[in-house]
Amino acid sequence: MPTFFDTHAHLDYPEFAQDLPELIERARAAGIERIISIGTDLESSRRAIALAERFEGVFAVAGWHPSHALEAPEDLRPALRELVKHPKVVAVGETGLDYYRLPSRQPGGTPADDENYKRKQAQIFQQQLEVAAEAGLNCVIHQRAALEDTLSMMQPFAGRVRGQFHCFADDAATMRRIMAMGSLVSFTGILTFKNGQNIRDALAATPMGQFMLETDCPYLAPIPYRGKRCEPAYVKEIADVAAQVKSCSLDDLSTATSGVAREFFAKLK
Ligand SMILES: [Zn+2]
Repeated sequence: MPTFFDTHAHLDYPEFAQDLPELIERARAAGIERIISIGTDLESSRRAIALAERFEGVFAVAGWHPSHALEAPEDLRPALRELVKHPKVVAVGETGLDYYRLPSRQPGGTPADDENYKRKQAQIFQQQLEVAAEAGLNCVIHQRAALEDTLSMMQPFAGRVRGQFHCFADDAATMRRIMAMGSLVSFTGILTFKNGQNIRDALAATPMGQFMLETDCPYLAPIPYRGKRCEPAYVKEIADVAAQVKSCSLDDLSTATSGVAREFFAKLK
């Protein structure tokens, strides 16, 4: 059976509290050999690490999500430096910039609130890039409506820290700019959606060995589970569509995507 990795799951979320062992067993039965559980703040990162200690095929990424930037400590680095020493922490993140839901679009929010929010996002993104560079790790990147600023903040780290632009939902030209920096893209269940043709076009243009697969569960369940809780086993449905788009066998897709994940996440065994 061709095997795959779920390179982006949020196993520590409450949606999974009831049936985690069964969920991991279903993933294993579907050929999903490795699951990377992504932290969204320090507590979530600690929970991801605890899951990695509990389940053999689970690994963790430690960091702070840009959407929670306002709750972040002034200096995230000391705590993060400790967490990334763990043998099963395979990257820093998820980090990056998200300008999609700015405070001024909410009731009572002002342009000054936007500037403060963006400044705080940039501050913790910079700190996480620094910790990644020190630790010799790569970053899991969350980028939404903030491509130019994300690329320009990563540029000084090019050659030291690479990014996995997770849940890639932009066009082929954007993919090429990301790859030109030495970074990579990763595709979710959006690939299977009827209205996901632009994402399939971006995948078609992405060379084999330069992309990964992920669920971003509990979100973005692929067809035929769209709208339901997503889980790592559904990488199988994403892989089926990815293999069609790439006109390759599932075995070739397995070799290519697992190979790039092992190379990108250096401590992934
Ligand atoms: Zn995520």
